[in-house]
Amino acid sequence: MACTIPAAEIKRVKGMGFLNNKGTNLFNARVITVNGKITAKQTAVIAEAAENFGNGDVEFTTRLTVEIRGIPFEKIEAFQAFIAKAGLETGGTGAMVRPVVSCKGTTCQYGLYDTFDLSEKIHQRFYKGYRGVKLPHKYKIAVGGCPNNCVKPSLNDIGVIGQRIPVVNEDMCNGCKKCQVEKACPMGAAKVTDGVIGRDKDICNNCGRCVGTCPFDAVETGTPGFKIVIGGRWGKKIAIGQELHKVFLSEEEVLSVIEKSILLFREQGKTGERFADTIARIGFDKVEEQLISDDILDRKQEILDAPLHVVG
Ligand code: SF4
Ligand code: SF4
Ligand code: SF4
Repeated sequence: MACTIPAAEIKRVKGMGFLNNKGTNLFNARVITVNGKITAKQTAVIAEAAENFGNGDVEFTTRLTVEIRGIPFEKIEAFQAFIAKAGLETGGTGAMVRPVVSCKGTTCQYGLYDTFDLSEKIHQRFYKGYRGVKLPHKYKIAVGGCPNNCVKPSLNDIGVIGQRIPVVNEDMCNGCKKCQVEKACPMGAAKVTDGVIGRDKDICNNCGRCVGTCPFDAVETGTPGFKIVIGGRWGKKIAIGQELHKVFLSEEEVLSVIEKSILLFREQGKTGERFADTIARIGFDKVEEQLISDDILDRKQEILDAPLHVVG
């Protein structure tokens, strides 16, 4: 059967998270999982909704949302009301902040902080908080727990990477023949030279795996922090995100940089370009400077009120 729904209606419901199944009058409902973590109750409601409204299939997207296939156009509102009883909603489309993706750093043996907690905060402040804010293009955020980069932070418009900067106390080092710190370092950054442990800062990725491995307490603590990468993308054109030079020491700083990056993209991006293009056009150094200073936050309301990107 060919699709008989008017194009304007297809566009309208796409904005609500319902994507037309090509060539039919049916839709995929994109259900937002916040950060890829849903409760057993929500899982049961999704399964029930797939049976009641769709064709029974539940499909997981690469960005950690869940799609239910085969929903008739006329059942869209009823579907939304049904999943709302479990605190679920549809969405995740358009030229705006997209659903956040997170790795399972909260429980992973290498995780350096609570990624689900931070990604939920990002969801609340920037997915929900900026839902009505149009941007030049989609804006993707990834939250990773350590430099293993499972969630590919550097292929997102902005990505967070957990850090633990080891504190090396050379005075405690005995220059052992077999150094435990050297052994623990996956990067080859920790090295005993002339009987003293050292760390090559250019190679070290602050994974923190050496912390606590020295039997003589030469590397007993590490400073927790976050690295931020900007301007990554995957798709037709590929760009690898670039790291901001600073390691941020608090979640609040990370949230502030994310907010500044969204405002900068809205204000200085051209309709139709991704953040990577904006950065290439303006220059990484100038973007970084603005993300570190608070000037852009001082102009937040002005940027949000500006009648920009009516097409985007
Ligand atoms: S990025 Fe690190 S913390 Fe996150 S899942 Fe991978 S290994 Fe674990
Ligand atoms: S860092 Fe610790 S394990 Fe390594 S050589 Fe020094 S004392 Fe030995
Ligand atoms: S933090 Fe990681 S990369 Fe750096 S010295 Fe320690 S183990 Fe090696």
